[in-house]
Amino acid sequence: AGGNTYAVFESHMDANAQEQLSLQLALRQAIAGDASEQLALYYQPKFDAARGQIRGAEALLRWRHPERGMVAPDVFIPIAERFGLINELGNWVIDESCRQLQAWESQGLHMRLSINLSVHQLRQPDLVQRIGRALQSHGIAPDRLLCEITESVAMEDIKTTQRAFEGLGRLGVFLSIDDFGTGYSSLSYLRQLPARQLKIDRSFIQDLELSLDARAVVDGVIKLAHALGLNVVAEGVETEAQRDILVGLSCNELQGYLFAKPMPADDLSDWARGQGP
Ligand code: C2E
Ligand code: CA
Ligand code: CA
Ligand code: CA
Repeated sequence: AGGNTYAVFESHMDANAQEQLSLQLALRQAIAGDASEQLALYYQPKFDAARGQIRGAEALLRWRHPERGMVAPDVFIPIAERFGLINELGNWVIDESCRQLQAWESQGLHMRLSINLSVHQLRQPDLVQRIGRALQSHGIAPDRLLCEITESVAMEDIKTTQRAFEGLGRLGVFLSIDDFGTGYSSLSYLRQLPARQLKIDRSFIQDLELSLDARAVVDGVIKLAHALGLNVVAEGVETEAQRDILVGLSCNELQGYLFAKPMPADDLSDWARGQGP
């Protein structure tokens, strides 16, 4: 496969394993070549819950496979993690987000951008330096960038998370705990992390209208987060009823198909100029 990577195909290997190997090779080639030919960031806006204005966007990675078309990140991110490609992929995301922030800035659009980090990236000893360098070379103030880390991943290896968060915090980058509610974190852990934001997982938002339990959980999470000085984002908001409940519960920011799907950078700037929903 080039470099020091070998891919061995064997007849007894199941179709899924072969599929993973083949995607892994294609992804490796995509990253090694001109990455922007196959990789792109899409941007999903986040809105101020009370006023409805755009507060920023989340960068979501897209991969256009030369033959298969779009491959979903839920498919290729785990493959990148398993085959040791996630750091390179993540580094591309870091550079591309800073480049896009600068491009928006030059159009007079002062965006705040969230990027998703994998736990493997948190273990990268030079992650903080790398993000610092990317910000600096594009002239972006650190407080324009938010790093989202999934709760389950953050708590799995709390020491690594803490170390990385502290470094990133010192740099001035904001930190967000993603998919909150899906892990099993103890509240004391949450207190130990210098995070600014907590994102409630879509599964709770989905159940808001029908389940009083889901509503009680979301209410509790928002109160707890506010007591800890965190700002709260609800992800996956799809209905007006969900929005109204979340506004009633004092959720700070909303994100979801009700407002906008992830879109290319140029569409987002048009959107932001039109001032949202
Ligand atoms: P996530 O960080 O939880 O991102 C939210 C996902 O929910 C995105 O899927 C988004 O398109 C989708 N979504 C947003 N609003 C709605 C809604 O109202 N309804 C529904 N049904 N879905 C909604 P996407 O883009 O397919 O990304 C999936 C996951 O892949 C992300 O989940 C994140 O964990 C991972 N991912 C994406 N980009 C990156 C990246 O650059 N780096 C890393 N490490 N992971 C990434
Ligand atoms: Ca996220
Ligand atoms: Ca999420
Ligand atoms: Ca989620």
